[in-house]
Amino acid sequence: RHYPHGVAFMDGQYLPMSEAKISVLDWGFLHSDATYDTVHVWNGRFFRLNLHLDRFLGGIERLRMNLPYDREEITSILKSCVALSGHKSAYVEMICTRGSSPTFSRDPRQAENRFMAFAVPFGSVANNEQLERGLHVAISETVRIPPKSIDPSIKNYHWLDLVKGLFDAYDMGAETALILDTDGHIAEGPGFNVFIVRDGSLTTPAFGVLPGITRRTVFDLCAEIGLSVAATDVSRAEIKQADEVFVTSTAGGIMPVTRIDEAKIANGKVGPITSRLMNFYWQKHDDPAWSTAVTYP
Ligand code: PMP
Repeated sequence: RHYPHGVAFMDGQYLPMSEAKISVLDWGFLHSDATYDTVHVWNGRFFRLNLHLDRFLGGIERLRMNLPYDREEITSILKSCVALSGHKSAYVEMICTRGSSPTFSRDPRQAENRFMAFAVPFGSVANNEQLERGLHVAISETVRIPPKSIDPSIKNYHWLDLVKGLFDAYDMGAETALILDTDGHIAEGPGFNVFIVRDGSLTTPAFGVLPGITRRTVFDLCAEIGLSVAATDVSRAEIKQADEVFVTSTAGGIMPVTRIDEAKIANGKVGPITSRLMNFYWQKHDDPAWSTAVTYP
């Protein structure tokens, strides 16, 4: 049986996506009390699965959640979701929610935490046309939730600031958004980190952003090629004067940006360093040091 819409794992069972449902009483739904991670499969191989598992398990620990599955079991559940779905390129999500307590207690310590996972066909933040010409991005005045409120290294569903940024961007005629940190510097966008290139060196915002695995991968790729890259503050002026800008996400990889607000970045074309990193990124997908095979039935 082939599952065009993907396969989920929940309560010990593998299900078609349409049958994977959670209770409306789950704190994950009621209070965004959950953590998750997403990893992609490309040509039948997970990309950097161990880094995603590290981030996921770290978040669970910091949220003081407990799971009945260990790292090996989670790995095998994720592989089974992908294998059963039959998809060679998939977007895979693992989720841990606070759950709810059998007595409807308001004490989160009483809740039974829940794990679920799913594999659906791969879908990118940017389509092919956008990858060729570069994304059009607007900078919204919206401020990303501060790290003292929510630790951004715990990958979470607190997205109302990002969604507001997205609507601001649509109102400004752009395709997606960047929002600010509490000091007014560039932070990140709805589902991606951002990099700028200036005089051959790369910079990415350091604080108040999700430590993205694709962002980390850009650091690793730069180390191999010998490009200089640093995490530091990025101002609105700096991003507009950059030679190149790109955004990074598991859902799409390295994606060029060629327009910010009303202005073109440099000559408005995808830059050479961005192109080189994009190619290098996709080349790494069948490298056994960076990827893990799925065994399909
Ligand atoms: N920032 C936010 C807010 C995100 O949700 C994501 C991914 N969903 C990213 C950045 C990119 O992280 P990664 O490269 O690990 O997908």
